[in-house]
Amino acid sequence: MPTDMTFIVRMLRYLFWVLVVTWSVRLLGRLVKQMGSGVSQGQPYVDVPNDAVSKKLVRDPVCGMHISEGIALPLKQGNDTIYFCSAECRDKFLDGGKKIAANA
Ligand SMILES: [Zn+2]
Repeated sequence: MPTDMTFIVRMLRYLFWVLVVTWSVRLLGRLVKQMGSGVSQGQPYVDVPNDAVSKKLVRDPVCGMHISEGIALPLKQGNDTIYFCSAECRDKFLDGGKKIAANA
């Protein structure tokens, strides 16, 4: 009876695909859960900005601007540390120092 055989084969194929689909859905669900838990664990950026803001203010000697020590660019000058608002101001200061040294 060929018609019965094709019916059984179709049923088996249908069951096979149902199993494959349920397995892949379960696997995807597990992967999504793992990714979700991994993301929620790795969020250490909550108390970083407060620390930078709470540091003392320093003065940029080139432009006279007051900046938080946490975000300023430090430059060691002997025993002193000079702070700048930007690399531009630091370069200006270094250029000025070189000119003064060259004149003297
Ligand atoms: Zn500046």
